[in-house]
Amino acid sequence: MGTMCPVCNGLMEQGPLCSSCGAEMQDAGLVTDYLGPYSPYFHTSFEAPCCLHLFTCPRCGEDKRIAVKLINI
Ligand SMILES: [Zn+2]
Ligand SMILES: [Zn+2]
Repeated sequence: MGTMCPVCNGLMEQGPLCSSCGAEMQDAGLVTDYLGPYSPYFHTSFEAPCCLHLFTCPRCGEDKRIAVKLINI
């Protein structure tokens, strides 16, 4: 048994909703480049395995980094 990211594997049915305008945000890719030892996400990653994605809003251009929880397979 392992884990996988539903977004990386195209299994996420709906993206997160934009906090500014309420439109569905689109996955703009992984943000592993931003991960570093001083990232706030670094400390939580081993407690709740997650995959960090950048989502952007097609309507207002807002972007947001979201830690997607991995699911068991
Ligand atoms: Zn992912
Ligand atoms: Zn928006």
